[in-house]
Amino acid sequence: MRLTVLGSGDAFSGCGCNAGYLLDSRVLVDCGAPAHVLSRRVGVSIRDLSLILLTHFHADHTFMLPLVLGALAFVPDPHRGPLIAGPPGTREYVSRLVTDGYGQHIQELLDLRLGPRYAVLQDGSDVELAGYRVRAHSVVHSLGPSLAYAISDSAGATIGFSGDSAMCAGLERAIRGCDLFVCECTGWGKPVPGGHLYSDEVAALMAAFPDVRFVISHLAQRRELRGALVAHDLLTLDVSPREQVTASS
Ligand SMILES: [Zn+2]
Repeated sequence: MRLTVLGSGDAFSGCGCNAGYLLDSRVLVDCGAPAHVLSRRVGVSIRDLSLILLTHFHADHTFMLPLVLGALAFVPDPHRGPLIAGPPGTREYVSRLVTDGYGQHIQELLDLRLGPRYAVLQDGSDVELAGYRVRAHSVVHSLGPSLAYAISDSAGATIGFSGDSAMCAGLERAIRGCDLFVCECTGWGKPVPGGHLYSDEVAALMAAFPDVRFVISHLAQRRELRGALVAHDLLTLDVSPREQVTASS
């Protein structure tokens, strides 16, 4: 499974684009980064997207979604749009984003051209979506509901995403069994407010799950954390079942 980091920065630092991750050009996890722009730089078309997963409804994870949906819809021959899945309230939240951003007429055009479909995920969801097994785990963040995901392809490779999370049981359930885990690391050296992880907590998770390769992202500062890969925008990794991770760029 190919992971491309579109955005490695946290909300406000400017350390990188906001959250967004591509899997195999078919799945987009969060949409804080301008996926319709950045995907071109790695030779991927968002027209191949079949699934968009949202971890939670903060701006740095979602505010590019109306633009991505517009980029899918306003082409001469639009395909049916991707399935959009996330915590309860996802349909209403996305509709509000589009309507507040561009007005009701654009919402109606998106409905007409993309026919968007929605799925609600919650703690314990274990479902097949767009050819991937998606497991969702509820995590603790300043805004609920918030989910972490573990996503497996048909070959059995599993990549996990913390979303934004404090240390909690749901986060640990999401990490367990992953080959690679994209873990937020918003602070360094001391706790950060708002339901986030900092470097010492990520180090503790790495020690607790030695078989899982960690990529730290959602960064306020780009620093080394012993044993972890440090994400940057457009980092691309190929992940096979059980710890075979090779950098493509
Ligand atoms: Zn965030």
